[in-house]
Amino acid sequence: MTATRILLDESEIPTHWYNVVADMPNPPAPPLGPDGQPVGPDKMLAIFPMALLEQEMSAERWIPIPDKVREIYGMWRPSPLCRAKRLEEVLGTPAKIYYKYEGVSPAGSHKPNTAVPQAYYNQLAGIKRISTETGAGQWGSSMAFAGQMFGLEVRVFMVKVSYDQKPFRRSMMQTWGAEVFASPTTMTQAGRDALARDPNTPGSLGIAISEAVEEAASRADTNYALGSVLNHVCMHQTIVGLEAKKQFEKIGEYPDVVIACCGGGSNFSGLAFPFLADKAAGKNVRLVAAEPTSCPTLTRGHYAYDFGDASGYTPLMLMYTLGHDFVPPGIHAGGLRYHGDSPLVSQLLKEGLIEAVAVPQLATFEAGVMFARAEGIIPAPESNHAIRACIDEALACRASGEPKTLLFNLSGHGHFDMASYDRYFAGELEDFEYPEHEIEAALPRLPKVAA
Ligand SMILES: *Cc1c(COP(=O)(O)O)cnc(C)c1O
Repeated sequence: MTATRILLDESEIPTHWYNVVADMPNPPAPPLGPDGQPVGPDKMLAIFPMALLEQEMSAERWIPIPDKVREIYGMWRPSPLCRAKRLEEVLGTPAKIYYKYEGVSPAGSHKPNTAVPQAYYNQLAGIKRISTETGAGQWGSSMAFAGQMFGLEVRVFMVKVSYDQKPFRRSMMQTWGAEVFASPTTMTQAGRDALARDPNTPGSLGIAISEAVEEAASRADTNYALGSVLNHVCMHQTIVGLEAKKQFEKIGEYPDVVIACCGGGSNFSGLAFPFLADKAAGKNVRLVAAEPTSCPTLTRGHYAYDFGDASGYTPLMLMYTLGHDFVPPGIHAGGLRYHGDSPLVSQLLKEGLIEAVAVPQLATFEAGVMFARAEGIIPAPESNHAIRACIDEALACRASGEPKTLLFNLSGHGHFDMASYDRYFAGELEDFEYPEHEIEAALPRLPKVAA
């Protein structure tokens, strides 16, 4: 019998995170201030602890994982690597399909992998309170859980459309002791400005980030935490790919293609970066980021310096962007609606080391339902993008007869997203191509600095 679940012992949880910067052909482009000059850590100390800023700037290949963080990781890690044998049969593909399952965490996704160390380093720095934003509620619940583990208060600005669509994500955050507000609020200048522009705005991740940053900057006992995009966040997530590599080693296999969905880039980085280390050393492995056609940042965005938030509070980052004032269509993969992307992921795409594909919404739900019926687990709508891209690879293998080994990240379960599945079954979901004229219109509104 071939193994369907490849498990590691708790003692095999990696002891270090992997920093991809050490293996990039070019150093990462620095974040810039409004004057076009690189922003040093001193400017960011108002909202981040030094330990995380050091990680953000680090070029060291291996960063030790503190024991207290590994201990909490041990509540659900190592996560299983599974062979999707029944899905392979349904597809009639000669490919072997594996997935790394991150839905086993308390919050149900990969996000606690970074929420936990972020809470840890903030507590160590004497911080009492974290302010943060959440789109679909996955990050807010992860931060609420992690804050609770380290005795920190957590205040969450939740994008209004999700606050209304996902009441149980809110209850989850409250169960872990966090305060949750529908963003835009009237509590911050950024929120009041957004409401003045459009009183009926559904909100956006960009606006919610502005609110959370403003709150953190205005209070000495409060820091800000971001669930994706930043270098240290991507690095914390590499625990996923490092475990997956150990699991493949156990069974004497190695993937030909590694696939993950991409919103801000953290679960993609987490799974793919440790494999990029091998690719940099000459190994032949494809790394594919899957995004929605309705928010096609990597496949159709501008590679330019832009703000990380709607109000322009953050430093400028060189990344693929649809423009910081992007207000996304109300698609159901809330976690993939960000206007920008991780600068590391963006640079690696620009330099041809990774690939990106965009997949339409209906095809992602079709893939998710097919997966659930074959493998049992109901995936998060975000993860359905990775499943779609993986199924397309498996079908190409059927056509060509190539028995490739495919790996995708099942970044979370969909138990809090059943309303989206309901709408899919009721035929109420649509495909949406983000219009070319909107992408062009964003260009003159990008901040003016030389890339
Ligand atoms: C947030 C989220 C994503 C997207 O965020 P990334 O930073 O791109 O990983 C993907 N899947 C799930 C389940 C999420 O919660």
